[in-house]
Amino acid sequence: MPIRFIKVKAKNIFTKTKLPRCKWVINQYVGCQFSCRYCYAKFLCKWKNYDKWGSWVEIKINAVEKVKDKYVDGVVFMSSVSDPYQPIEKKLCLTRKILENMNKKVKIGIQSKSSLLLRDVDVFKKFKTIEVGLTINGFDGKLKHEIEPYSPSHKKRLNALKVLKEEKIKNYAFISPVIPGLVDVEKIIMETKGFVDKYWIEILNLKASGYEFVEWLKSNFPESYNTLINKEKMNKFIKNILKFSNKNKIVIEDLILHKL
Ligand code: SF4
Repeated sequence: MPIRFIKVKAKNIFTKTKLPRCKWVINQYVGCQFSCRYCYAKFLCKWKNYDKWGSWVEIKINAVEKVKDKYVDGVVFMSSVSDPYQPIEKKLCLTRKILENMNKKVKIGIQSKSSLLLRDVDVFKKFKTIEVGLTINGFDGKLKHEIEPYSPSHKKRLNALKVLKEEKIKNYAFISPVIPGLVDVEKIIMETKGFVDKYWIEILNLKASGYEFVEWLKSNFPESYNTLINKEKMNKFIKNILKFSNKNKIVIEDLILHKL
């Protein structure tokens, strides 16, 4: 898909957030080439006058100078409306340059679907407090092609988690978006528990995934949709995940279930 890259200047780069366990976010990119159909950041298309989600990326060209010599208290998360290691990052190295220039006492959390982050392991190691996570969901084949067409494969993400562990960087798996019947949480835990420090599990946020995605889910996977909207079924589903996690003694930082 042709991508439009738009250069912009940011007033500030550290933005306050209400996301769990962090105080700030950095979005050096706004918009994402991975173009996941369920992406919660799609709402940005409504008030930015650009085209379809995934077809544009804003690049904050002054992001590096904005982080230089600054210290903020509390965890800084990278990123909330983009993937910090989406394909353009390979060429621009903007995420890398931000990290290189950031005060190394800043507590940082990085999350991506891309193994490109392994390029920056040397910089990660310079931070006193850092956690690096990979979003994992196991989408594969036709299903992946339909809902997460341009993201790196499950295999590459697993390998990235493994390498982070070998490099002694605190890592986590963000299992998301969990869609009953489509994402096998137990299988993912079994595949990763030897090299993942902790887990976040997030059930698909139906509201944030947007009308088009919900309609697609309803018509292609009605059972999954019906489970998501049924309180009793969801309670049972979550109970089973927690039971399995306890049995396997894994650390779950949080299990996020959004309001309908
Ligand atoms: S990788 Fe994340 S930010 Fe990018 S499109 Fe997918 S869900 Fe959205």
